[in-house]
Amino acid sequence: MRVDVLTLFPGIFSGPLDHSILAKAREAGLLTVTVHDLRQFAEGKHRVTDEPPYGGGGGMVMKPEPIFAGVESLRERFGPGKAVLLSPQGELLNPALARRLSKEEHLILICGRYEGVDQRVADFLADFEISIGDYVLTGGELPALVLIDAVARFLPGVLGDPEAPYRDSFEEGLLEAPQYTRPRVFRGHPVPEVLLSGNHAEIEKWRREEAQQRTRLRRPDILGRDRGPTNGRPTNS
Ligand code: SAM
Repeated sequence: MRVDVLTLFPGIFSGPLDHSILAKAREAGLLTVTVHDLRQFAEGKHRVTDEPPYGGGGGMVMKPEPIFAGVESLRERFGPGKAVLLSPQGELLNPALARRLSKEEHLILICGRYEGVDQRVADFLADFEISIGDYVLTGGELPALVLIDAVARFLPGVLGDPEAPYRDSFEEGLLEAPQYTRPRVFRGHPVPEVLLSGNHAEIEKWRREEAQQRTRLRRPDILGRDRGPTNGRPTNS
C-alpha cells in the first residue's frame, strides 16, 4: 500500500514510522509512506496556506487551493488514490473502517491545522472524512499516524500471525480477555490457575467468559457487534 501525507509539519512524522512493526513493514515494501510539505503546493511569493475565516471568528482556516493542488499532483504522479481528510467531524475510525481502507492501494491523507480546513475540501475532494475520536487535537498529524498504524495491521504480511488482528479487542463485539506472562506469582498475585492447566478447551472457555464480562462492565455499547461467521476476515469466495 502507498500512503502519501499532506501536512504543514512534515517533521512530526519522523520517528513514529521508524520503529518496530511499521518500520519492518516499510522495509519489506508492504507499506510506503511519503510525507509532503503542503506549502510546496501553495502559490505566490509567500506560499500562503491559511487565511482568516469568512464571516469572522478567531483563528485561521486552511485554504483549499494548495490541498486540491497537492492531491491532484499526487494522483497524477502515483495513480488514483483515495483522499482522506482527518477531521474531528468525520466518521469514527474503527476496525471495520481500518480494514476497509487496508484494501485500497493508495491513500492520500490530508492533515488540517488551526481552526480546520475550508469546507470545499470535504465536499468536493475528500473520499473519506475520518475522526480518531470525540476530542479535538491541534492538528491532523497524530490522527494520520494513528490511521496509518490501524490500517497497516490489516495489510497481509505486516503482522507475523495473520489471525492476530482478528483476536484483538473489538473483534466479535468483545474486548480481549486479560493476558498474563511470567512470573507465575508476582508480588503475591498469582496467574489464574486455568491458564496453567494445559486444558485448551477450558482456557478458551475462560477467555470467552472473561471477554464477555469485561465488555459488559467496560464497553456494553460494543457487545454483540458481530460481523458474521468470518468476522470480517477476508474469504476466498
Ligand atoms: N475547529 C475544528 C472543529 O471544531 O471541528 C477543529 C479543528 S482542529 C483544532 C485542527 C485539525 O486537527 C483538524 O482540521 C483536523 O485535521 C485535526 N483533528 C483534530 N482533532 C481530530 C480528531 N479527533 N480526528 C481527526 N482529526 C482531528
